[in-house]
Amino acid sequence: MTKSKLSPNNHQWTVEDSSALYGLNCWGKRYFSINDQGHIIVHPKGKGGESLDLFDLVGELEGRNLMLPLLIRFDDILEDRLRRIHEVFQKATSHYGYEGQYQGVFPVKCNQQRHVIEELMACGRHWNFGLEAGSKAELLIALSLVDNAKALLICNGYKDQRYIETAILARQLGRQPVIVIEQPDEVERIIKASKEIGSAPLIGIRAKLSSQSAGHWGSSIGAKAKFGLSIPDILSTVEKLRESNLLNELRLLHFHIGSQINDIGIIKNALQEAGQIYVELTRLGANMSYLDVGGGLGVDYDGSRTSSTASTNYSLQNYANDVVATIQECCKSNKVKVPTLVSESGRAIASHFSVLLFNVLGVSNVTTEIPPKKENECLIVQNLRETLQSINSISQEPSIETAKLQEAWTDAIKFKDDALNAFRLGYLELAERAMAEQLTWACAKALMKLLPDDLSIPNELKGLRSTLAGTYYANLSIFRSAPDTWAISQLFPVMPIHRLDEAPTELGHFADLTCDSDGKLNKFIHKGEKKSLLELHQFKPEAPYVIGMFLGGAYQEVMGSLHNLFGRTNAVHIRISPESNYQVDHVVRSDTKADVLKAMEHNPEQVLERLRIASETAIKLGKLKISDARKLMEHLEASLRQSTYLQK
Ligand SMILES: *Cc1c(COP(=O)(O)O)cnc(C)c1O
Repeated sequence: MTKSKLSPNNHQWTVEDSSALYGLNCWGKRYFSINDQGHIIVHPKGKGGESLDLFDLVGELEGRNLMLPLLIRFDDILEDRLRRIHEVFQKATSHYGYEGQYQGVFPVKCNQQRHVIEELMACGRHWNFGLEAGSKAELLIALSLVDNAKALLICNGYKDQRYIETAILARQLGRQPVIVIEQPDEVERIIKASKEIGSAPLIGIRAKLSSQSAGHWGSSIGAKAKFGLSIPDILSTVEKLRESNLLNELRLLHFHIGSQINDIGIIKNALQEAGQIYVELTRLGANMSYLDVGGGLGVDYDGSRTSSTASTNYSLQNYANDVVATIQECCKSNKVKVPTLVSESGRAIASHFSVLLFNVLGVSNVTTEIPPKKENECLIVQNLRETLQSINSISQEPSIETAKLQEAWTDAIKFKDDALNAFRLGYLELAERAMAEQLTWACAKALMKLLPDDLSIPNELKGLRSTLAGTYYANLSIFRSAPDTWAISQLFPVMPIHRLDEAPTELGHFADLTCDSDGKLNKFIHKGEKKSLLELHQFKPEAPYVIGMFLGGAYQEVMGSLHNLFGRTNAVHIRISPESNYQVDHVVRSDTKADVLKAMEHNPEQVLERLRIASETAIKLGKLKISDARKLMEHLEASLRQSTYLQK
């Protein structure tokens, strides 16, 4: 077994060490763990339930020609998340003796994939789980997939006349669409459409709350928020509805204070404010029966259970308790009947079930090999050899002084700079410069081995880690598969899914396939903070090295773009099955190159035809053999039919 510089205490590396290092025992504890082979296993129905070896599963999917990069969706996890949300609300309502119910909806924008929404609708049927649409296209999805008369269909977003009329008419199909007024002028359109059609929709109002949220989505609320009615707007909307005899259809109060709320205190404030508005609306004569607390229920991406941006300082149960207790308290003290509680949790439902897997294609490192000694080496190279020797002799000392290590590193850097200057002025040959660089990195490597442990490294030596870090080339486009890591620096748990019984001896980050210098994954979870380098294993070119990005089921794939024309990856839906361990329920094939060309209005046929003509011309001029022309055309045709990612 390899002994690691990261486990300086000389103990044998175990899978428990890996679990702690990558935080798997925190962020993944319900669904993921590591087996004795050092592979991640998935137990989609929770700890103790049936499990699957993720690495073996990848092998078997590749056997079916479903190559990496690959998105595996564990529908059992999706179902479990849905069950968990309903359970915590169930527990909270019975604990507080709440005389109303909880009824959730899924915000379609979080993951619009048909299989995902269909799965949610099927699993959620006995809870009357519904959908929330934020655009006209999402409304079409929601209308066609919510066929349960008791489920809610919350209509948010900007609405034109057709959006509103469609929703009103859908009520006559036996659906329960609630048109949520988010802009002051929408009420006029609702009144007009209702008059024309001669029937009214269920109506909701989105309140602009003043409670402030921190974090990335903080600007979703407050006076400058994009959506929602201010208090004066709410009052005038109520009056307009009253004048048009529609106040009886005003049933729902909605608020949404942004996604991934890290601090439960913010949620409580918002609930109190919304509770009071709800009570006032009832007093104004509206037929109120629903309070929709929107999304915002966060995911503990780093498992730290803190209010840092990648975490939450509350559990699902804390959240449900606060929603139920706060609203109950508010209604009770005002003698108002408690509402049915609605939530639009997207992230909290859809994050966990999907795992993105990609392979590493290669690694680039600085060379730390010590170059063989030559006769008459120049002074700079001699100096560096001496520095290396002095580092090695420090290692023999009974107690190691960090000051000495620091001094040695400063020397090494100075000599390396000297080498560069000498080269520029023509006093050093290329081969000598190469030796100087190699020796500098060898010094760095020797020093790293002597550093106490990764957390207590003195500032001056911090650079050493990144100097020696490797760039791991990932068969992936982050713009396609993990856009939020780039756009808003979001953190997701990322780790190898195998070799976890082996100490990771390297540090590195990932560079993706795009030609964009932003196309990299270099921010990783670290106990409530972040780090720029991840502990990884030495890459062996002949063996697979498969990395998983976890908790990315919400927003990532659906917001991804075709940057550099990397298309959708393969995606599979897996269900645990008692007879055969697992079954592959759906396969969504990756985009082919023809697909992505067509998306940009190119015609694959035309592309081929142009190249065929060019090759005929080259044949005529004697520049290309007929057999080579045929090979070229075969490559082009095959390429168009294949995925946009690299193949083994
Ligand atoms: C985006 C959005 C949601 C989902 O938010 P999550 O934080 O993912 O739960 C819910 N409601 C509205 C109105 C939204 O815009």
